[in-house]
Amino acid sequence: MTGVNLLFHKEKLIALCLIPVLLFAGCGKTESSGTTIQATTTPTTTTAATTAETSTVPAETTIDIKTSTIDNGYLQQATIDGVSYSLTVDLAKWEKNTSMEQIGTLEEVFWEVYPRLYKRFGEYSKAPVDVVLHIENEGYEIAEAWENNVHIHDQWLMNNPTDFDCFVHELAHVIQNGWDEEYLEYSGYIERFADYCRFIYAFKNGLYNDEGWELQTVENEPDRESSVRFLVWLDYNLSSPDRDFILNYFRICSSMKYEKTAWDKAWTELFKGTKFEGMSIDKVWELYASSDFAMLSSYSGSNGTSELLTKYDIRSRY
Ligand SMILES: [Zn+2]
Repeated sequence: MTGVNLLFHKEKLIALCLIPVLLFAGCGKTESSGTTIQATTTPTTTTAATTAETSTVPAETTIDIKTSTIDNGYLQQATIDGVSYSLTVDLAKWEKNTSMEQIGTLEEVFWEVYPRLYKRFGEYSKAPVDVVLHIENEGYEIAEAWENNVHIHDQWLMNNPTDFDCFVHELAHVIQNGWDEEYLEYSGYIERFADYCRFIYAFKNGLYNDEGWELQTVENEPDRESSVRFLVWLDYNLSSPDRDFILNYFRICSSMKYEKTAWDKAWTELFKGTKFEGMSIDKVWELYASSDFAMLSSYSGSNGTSELLTKYDIRSRY
């Protein structure tokens, strides 16, 4: 634990030197800075956080990752909590705009985040355990995911050197494993869930994310179709050791149980047995919108913890 904390503080000090970069929901909108970072990862051993079965507080542990060279890249493999995962890093179209240190940090992101996402959601959705990361200097999306592939543009981290958590967002899409928008109340729920994961599972407890990416307030995301923070609030209020509200939400989204016009029934099912049982989704939204949770800043600045997480310590549950 101590070694991990020392590492955390060391990287925090490096982060203090960075120029703040504000990114918004998703990976597509940005302002850039020219600062580069020094990551401390190595290609063969990565420190990752996994959730202990007997506790909701993440436990820090070191995992053994085997790395082997393949054509135009390399393969990493590890078994965590009984599940064998692999990360293939495809560098066939990498033109070295993304530094090796940054690629090393992306590896760390994968091993810290993906097994936790998989254990919570991916077993249900039968998500892949073998993921391929393509770092490509090509003109299509900045970052995107399809099947078990994630693409990150080779110039993205060059221009946005702290945006490692866009990888968390894309890994959440891999975990969704093909949600069908015909069975979601709004197709935007696909992106809202990915950003919920980006916030909750932010790499190194938000070391980079919370300085460069904000959970928008109710003023900027004024309805449940657009709001990421509403999912975080629902999770904070309704999840407990006996009930994982967001997992239940994920199951309904994955199972194609309710067509988009029947989502009043989905919300009724989700709220059953909770303190919101019997309330309409619009009423529950009103409760959220009038709460301080909907307004507190999630921006950490350079001194650590945001107003939101200082008052509502939701990340420590996961
Ligand atoms: Zn997305």
